[in-house]
Amino acid sequence: KENILEVKNLKTYFPIRGGIFNRVINHVKAVNGVNFELLKNETLGIVGESGCGKSTLIKTIMRGVHASEGKILFNNGNNKIDILELNKKELKSIRKNIQMIFQDPFSSLSPRMTVRNIIVEPLKINKNIKDNKKLDEIAINLLKDVGLNPKYLQRYPHAFSGGQRQRIGVARALSLKPKLLLADEPTSALDVSVQSQLLNLLTKLKEKYELSMIFISHDLSVVEHISDRMAVMYVGNIVEIGDVKEIFNKPTHPYTRALLSAVPIANPHKRNHKELLEGEVADPANLPSGCPFHPRCKYKKDICIHQKPDLKPLKSNENKKVACHFANEL
Ligand code: SF4
Ligand code: MG
Repeated sequence: KENILEVKNLKTYFPIRGGIFNRVINHVKAVNGVNFELLKNETLGIVGESGCGKSTLIKTIMRGVHASEGKILFNNGNNKIDILELNKKELKSIRKNIQMIFQDPFSSLSPRMTVRNIIVEPLKINKNIKDNKKLDEIAINLLKDVGLNPKYLQRYPHAFSGGQRQRIGVARALSLKPKLLLADEPTSALDVSVQSQLLNLLTKLKEKYELSMIFISHDLSVVEHISDRMAVMYVGNIVEIGDVKEIFNKPTHPYTRALLSAVPIANPHKRNHKELLEGEVADPANLPSGCPFHPRCKYKKDICIHQKPDLKPLKSNENKKVACHFANEL
């Protein structure tokens, strides 16, 4: 299957300055050599604890923060463009294809704009559409698509609940008919019941708009609900990536196993591994040598301290990749 995005050896380092000369003395290695592909029309969920680099990863894809190294190849249908190589003008034109929805619908919507203007603003800016009747019509259809009543068109964001505001944010993101939607914890501020409504809506819209989606969350059940494939991040690295069901049924990486063990599940017999996560999350400004998980890993051997494992397909399952020296033996 064709991919829409290919991320190669991506690194995003933030300099830390200090000392009397205020020189760069260290780096926070927020994203530290990430590789993955996003296939057309799939949803890739990315999970990991806070600080693992998942938000920085999608900000880097949006060029909101500066990448230190790597490639981000976007397939626009005709050819593959490295997002990191684009100048401002080229970036603006590609932005039509890549939109984002945010964690906090309250702060991402302008309080002084009507819902109609919030939704159609990207069309005015990016497509230079001025015809008000046409813009009304588009806004009405988008509101219907996200399950809101079109009679709300002239209201302001404060009149809506959190879930409704998130729907307005989705309508705005879809107005340019993007190919790729990046979602940064869009449901984490919502009640559980509202959360699942929004996840179902996104799943439906993904089909209708033929979207590909990256969905990041610290909540495993949310990722399980919405994703086709998932990636698990630990201090700036993807440690395991593959089919969601396969990973939930049979996690391989010791970190994934520990993460999943912490989630209560309906049928405990399904779970083979009961493992506890001990020790502290590694500090991205002061990473351990070798495998970044080694200080917490009960399977570690000498090699783990000296050599960082690559993300490689499992011998028993080519579709799953794991970054662990002993992935095939675990
Ligand atoms: Fe554990 Fe070694 Fe695998 Fe890292 S490479 S997860 S330390 S066994
Ligand atoms: Mg975050």
